[in-house]
Amino acid sequence: MRRLSDRAPSHHRTGPRAGETARAEEPLRREAMRHPHAVSGPINQHGIFDNVDRAVDAATEAQKKLVKLSMDERDQIVKLVKAMCKNNAQAWGKIELDETKIGRLDHKIEKLQILELVPGVEFLTTQADSGSNGLCLHEYAPFGVIGVITPVTHVIPTLSANIVNMVAAGNSIVANPHPSGANCAAMAVREYNKAISAKFGIDHLISCIVPPSLESADAIFNHRGIPLLVVTGGPAVARAALAAKKRAIVAGPGNPPVVVDETACLKNAAESIVKGAAYDNNLLCIGEKQVFALESIFDKLMQQMERAGGFILNKQQIEALTKQAFTMGKDNKLHVNKDFVGRDASVLAQAAGVRVAPTTQILVGETNADHVFVQEEQMMPFVPFVRVKTFDEAMDLAIQSEHGYRHTALIHSRNLDNITKFGRRANVTLFVVNGASMSGLGLGGQGYLSYSIATPTGEGITTPLTFTRYRRVMMTGSLRMI
Ligand code: NAD
Repeated sequence: MRRLSDRAPSHHRTGPRAGETARAEEPLRREAMRHPHAVSGPINQHGIFDNVDRAVDAATEAQKKLVKLSMDERDQIVKLVKAMCKNNAQAWGKIELDETKIGRLDHKIEKLQILELVPGVEFLTTQADSGSNGLCLHEYAPFGVIGVITPVTHVIPTLSANIVNMVAAGNSIVANPHPSGANCAAMAVREYNKAISAKFGIDHLISCIVPPSLESADAIFNHRGIPLLVVTGGPAVARAALAAKKRAIVAGPGNPPVVVDETACLKNAAESIVKGAAYDNNLLCIGEKQVFALESIFDKLMQQMERAGGFILNKQQIEALTKQAFTMGKDNKLHVNKDFVGRDASVLAQAAGVRVAPTTQILVGETNADHVFVQEEQMMPFVPFVRVKTFDEAMDLAIQSEHGYRHTALIHSRNLDNITKFGRRANVTLFVVNGASMSGLGLGGQGYLSYSIATPTGEGITTPLTFTRYRRVMMTGSLRMI
């Protein structure tokens, strides 16, 4: 069977890492290295299937049972998933890091703990129009079985947040996780199904295909029993989903630029950039990937970056890092070297030829706007800073570097005209002003959380309503009682 590419890096990590308080257990790590894709545990039980037809059949039966439950009971399933995620955050975060080998343990854990910020059944309110012609109800019904593709960057968080939203809306799920996170995805699915089955008598509410492959993704894309696809991932899978013959909600790639103007609070800007870009070693699709700062404040901003925990690389060190962090493809273009994606800043520093403390949060350095670190969605804790002369130049370059993904952009400024101008022109789904990127997803900001931000298809930060069909009930000439 053809498999998707393996993200597992070719070398072991040593020493404690930024934000890691305890070393991972060596036996577990060695086991994961020996069998990177072997998914243990019984097949055809607790939602684990090696065949898409069987998974869809099981999910179809489960969904019929789900919609027979009351909304209160559905709410209880959602709360059960959230509680399991929170209670198991330490263990599951470590299991995910051990398998995927990208990101940071403290943030892997936090991403699971904050799942309670994901909205559930409370979003499914019925609207009504009552008038002389009767009563009209606007209702939100489930689709049925949803085909779900999840990324390696947040395996259990994306799957769990999708489950909360989709089950709240009355759907069941067939998931095809990234092959490099298939074990931890299957583990979480098995645990969720065991708990849901024991308490609510529904088996296989969430199905997971093992081992996941391009063929199984394709079978999900084309299955007649799946009316809706929800795909979270990079450019290739986003393109494949957009070309599918059924409705797809696509949470695609980003390359979030940050603009810092001369009116910004530079201390807050630097602290926010460090916080956002260091988060899970910059694996978040919303994470700060490149900064455009005005010349008048550039040097002062860099000083603040150092104070906030950034380590400044010089030109030679940036070029040494670039040579290792990107490889030349057959298409004669530079491509991200996956061995460096989501690795610690200290690992990147080593490639740059410099030693930094293992607790270093991020590396930064000055580059041109056309540098590959600016143009590629690199998902590494190195943030390139570009010096610009005017605010308009900063905006133009920032928008160009976002490549029309319409995902996320950020600005640090106290000038309302500048904020408004950039917000209008950037035209992104998530626009964060004077804060770290994750404040846009409820972490240190207002609003709810989702790990699937639908960008090319426009649904935005997904909620249970995203996964519903609108239905109208018109009681003609009756049921108006006043
Ligand atoms: P990826 O594109 O390599 O993989 C994502 C998923 O798609 C995986 O399950 C993978 O197995 C599958 N896949 C890849 N190519 C496919 C194809 N041709 N057909 C069917 N399935 C395919 O991405 P990743 O490295 O796992 O995740 C990082 C990417 O995801 C980044 O680009 C990031 O911006 C994006 N992302 C977006 C959001 C969002 O909400 N918009 C959230 C998280 C990640």
